[in-house]
Amino acid sequence: MPRATKPKIWCPNCEKITVCPTISLSNINHKPSQRWYFESQEDIKFFKRARLCEECNNDFITVEVSAQLLTELAILRKRTTEIFTDFDKLVKKSKSVKNSTNRTLAKIQEIVEQINKISNVWEEDWVEDMIKFDV
Ligand SMILES: [Zn+2]
Repeated sequence: MPRATKPKIWCPNCEKITVCPTISLSNINHKPSQRWYFESQEDIKFFKRARLCEECNNDFITVEVSAQLLTELAILRKRTTEIFTDFDKLVKKSKSVKNSTNRTLAKIQEIVEQINKISNVWEEDWVEDMIKFDV
């Protein structure tokens, strides 16, 4: 009978493929049960394992899911990223529109102030004229 080899998998701490045998979930203070699902999404079922990296001594959890579920997750993650990218573009565009609007409002305010100055001058002239006329 062939001797079992220790599994080599990706260690999230070393960030490389190393020997990471399975250890008991209770060793890292997790419930010892391995079969799980999300209560809110019962179709997401997974098999949980605790691992110990022999390179860095990091323990971590892995889960086994169907390839179809993993593919769906990758597609949803990509779409989510696209949505946030589009949202960021909209936010930048709205800031640009806001700045443009503020510049336009400032110009309008400047024009209104000039009109007010002109009308004040007219009124002053008119008042002066009235005074002159009365005298
Ligand atoms: Zn490691």
